[in-house]
Amino acid sequence: MKEDIFVLKGKRLAELQEFCASLGLEPYRAKQIYQGIYKNRYSSLEQFTTFSKEVREKLKANASFPEIQLGRELISKDGTRKFTFEVEPGKEVETVWIPSGDGDRKTICISSQVGCTLNCAFCATGLLEYKGNLQTWQILDQILQVEKIVQDRATNIVFMGMGEPMHNYFSVLKAAHILNDKDGFCLGAKRITISTAGVTTGINRFIENKEPFNFAISLNHPNPNARSSVMDVNDKHPLEKLLETARRFTQELDRMITFEYVMIPDVNMGRENAERLVKIARSVNKCKINVIPLNTDFTKWRRPTEEEVGEFVSYLRAKSGVPILNRRSPGRDINGACGMLALKGTRNEKIVQT
Ligand code: SAH
Repeated sequence: MKEDIFVLKGKRLAELQEFCASLGLEPYRAKQIYQGIYKNRYSSLEQFTTFSKEVREKLKANASFPEIQLGRELISKDGTRKFTFEVEPGKEVETVWIPSGDGDRKTICISSQVGCTLNCAFCATGLLEYKGNLQTWQILDQILQVEKIVQDRATNIVFMGMGEPMHNYFSVLKAAHILNDKDGFCLGAKRITISTAGVTTGINRFIENKEPFNFAISLNHPNPNARSSVMDVNDKHPLEKLLETARRFTQELDRMITFEYVMIPDVNMGRENAERLVKIARSVNKCKINVIPLNTDFTKWRRPTEEEVGEFVSYLRAKSGVPILNRRSPGRDINGACGMLALKGTRNEKIVQT
């Protein structure tokens, strides 16, 4: 890709309009480009056949139409598929296609950064070297490429792959708006979920801008004095502040917020932690909690047993007064489940688990 050349992908319609005007092209061309990318799924300027050769040549000379490059593909027994993409030379991310058992819901889990600056003790992505933010087109191209490969369309998008979305706020939100836009991917705002490890500055910005998307906070520890020991983000954005921001979210936007909670025996389970979590749920009130058993095995910790999960979840269900969802972890056999995205494997291979 040539440096500094205008990238047609990942731009809002207004930006394309301005660009077309700068080239002396008619204003309606901008919408044709926008729809060509997201509705017609064109992958090169050659496919814009309604454009005269002259218009196409002008665009080719002044803009680029890049694609991220597929590296590996891993296919799980449960139908989950994990893809590694090279977004730029030497910069790889992972993207996961997650069909539900009944096939009604098809989720794509996308990355927002190459690696992550945070270092959550249970998450494999934190072990990678951080190599920067993704641009909006690189975020959206994960979806365009995956949908082309699987020959299907996602019903839901979650910003829960590699990276901390609030550390790449503007590119992430721009991508979410193009996903939501009727001339873009035309996905309902409630089908788009943005997740944060708890960067309160980003959450506040999200509230102030009255963003319509679903929002999740990876809470993961209910004790203000212990949360930093598993999530370093808590040093800068302490739990009390985070919960205050979560309450602000539910009050000002009048919407439910989701808490994600990775269950780790001897770390954040047991009665005391369950009690603290119940208090948090009651104080935020308009929330639901998704619990997830620890997926990774590189840590000193183990996955909870069925009984441990059962006990923890029953207590929360009995006392919290909020919905508790015990999340399945699809794609564990291909390291495609939550917390497992860490670029393991060899380039250009395709592995199918049977
Ligand atoms: N940085 C953002 C986006 C990543 S979402 C965030 O933290 O929200 C990834 C989700 O997977 C988070 O909810 C995280 O808590 C969860 N997770 C991380 N490691 C995990 C593991 N080993 N097992 C289960 N879930 C994990």
